[in-house]
Amino acid sequence: MGADLVVVGAGLFGLTVAERMASAGRRVVVLDRRDHLGGNAWSEVEPTTGIEVHRYGAHLFHTSNERVWEYVNRFTSFTDYVHHVYTSHRGEVFPMPINLGTINQFFRSSHGPDAARALVAEQSAELDGKRPENLDEKGVSLIGRPLYEAFIRGYTAKQWQTDPRDLPASIISRLPVRFTYDNRYFNDTYEGLPTDGYAAWLTRMADHPNIEVRLSTDFFDDSHELSKDKVVGRVPVVYTGPLDRYFDHAEGRLTWRTLDFEQEIVETGDFQGTSVMNYADEDVPFTRILEFRHFHPERDLQTDRTVIVREFSRFADEGDEPYYPVNTASDREMLLRYRELAAAEPRVFFGGRLGTYQYLDMHMAIGSALSMVDNQLAGLWDEA
Ligand code: FAD
Ligand code: UDP
Repeated sequence: MGADLVVVGAGLFGLTVAERMASAGRRVVVLDRRDHLGGNAWSEVEPTTGIEVHRYGAHLFHTSNERVWEYVNRFTSFTDYVHHVYTSHRGEVFPMPINLGTINQFFRSSHGPDAARALVAEQSAELDGKRPENLDEKGVSLIGRPLYEAFIRGYTAKQWQTDPRDLPASIISRLPVRFTYDNRYFNDTYEGLPTDGYAAWLTRMADHPNIEVRLSTDFFDDSHELSKDKVVGRVPVVYTGPLDRYFDHAEGRLTWRTLDFEQEIVETGDFQGTSVMNYADEDVPFTRILEFRHFHPERDLQTDRTVIVREFSRFADEGDEPYYPVNTASDREMLLRYRELAAAEPRVFFGGRLGTYQYLDMHMAIGSALSMVDNQLAGLWDEA
């Protein structure tokens, strides 16, 4: 079809843009180099157990954004799953994120909220009122040195392999710290998992007569008619692939972390009693074990086998999937130069996690796609 808009990447950002523009009467072609749509939120049913496995790591939907919640509910309902995480440290299991239960178990104490706050204040005194400027200082300021060393330092070393003083404080600000026994992982108003799975949700978003999805199609492969060389300047493009790749890494390579997932089917109905167990200590090589059956307790699953996935983190090489932007000071400088190049591209709009080199949760990717539609795309054809 003759497209009004080409969207590169069929992740949640690209699908949201495509769906909104298609509903507004535009013909949209969505390209993805993978053999499935949905980006990193994609899931598949493990055939021998019937258990839904999130192919690119556990994806928990949560948001406090009314508009995003209303929008996603057009394509799927959500279960009442509420996420909880536990962490294993020196052979003992503690609740996460850090809450009064974690604090009292760790210190073998029975502090109330005020006493626990006073303890943490005393144990973060080394900061001397200084505003925390990096992950290390932020971690100590939130929970004090002993808890930071037990639950954050080792896990962060495995996850990032970067000096925590070179990492932005925002990474750790994602985790709440609570002086109550509430150990819900997220603070958001709405939370749940798509009732009939991520694949069904994401497939429905693209199910529109004005949307054509072309899979296994790379934007930079010029053997097809919608490649970068043939499209840019002629048809508006929303690009959600890696920002540096678009410019052939002209300003250098932005650093990313990637993950290796080791899946195992275990002959038991329940391996760890919960969906996510983190491993805080550096002598355990993986960061966490996911057990997917626990994401859907409402499903009638067989009880003799279970699927677990161990997650290992490392720096992404060329050819690896980029998952987490590292965002060191030199990355941020390079990012500014790429942003200037991006602003000069004719009718190319950069969005999503890879296209903006930003950690975005699903609700943030959807929210920013809706804003791009309103503020940059909706009026594009008005002048024509
Ligand atoms: P993506 O989903 O990455 O989609 C980008 C797409 O572009 C990909 O499909 C890619 O194949 C395609 N592409 C790239 N280059 C090209 C090219 N040259 N040609 C064609 N196609 C191309 N969010 C939450 O809300 N909750 C969670 O619990 C959560 N857990 C996460 C766990 C992990 C391990 C990771 C990595 C992310 C997690 N997220 C979570 C974030 C979530 O995955 C993102 O918010 C979401 O994927 C963003 O969508 P996107 O469209 O920006 O990017
Ligand atoms: N983190 C940690 N210990 C934990 C969980 C998280 O140190 O048990 C730190 C770590 O640096 C991690 C960050 O907090 O990268 C954000 O955690 P989150 O669970 O949001 O990570 P994600 O699910 O995005 O991988």
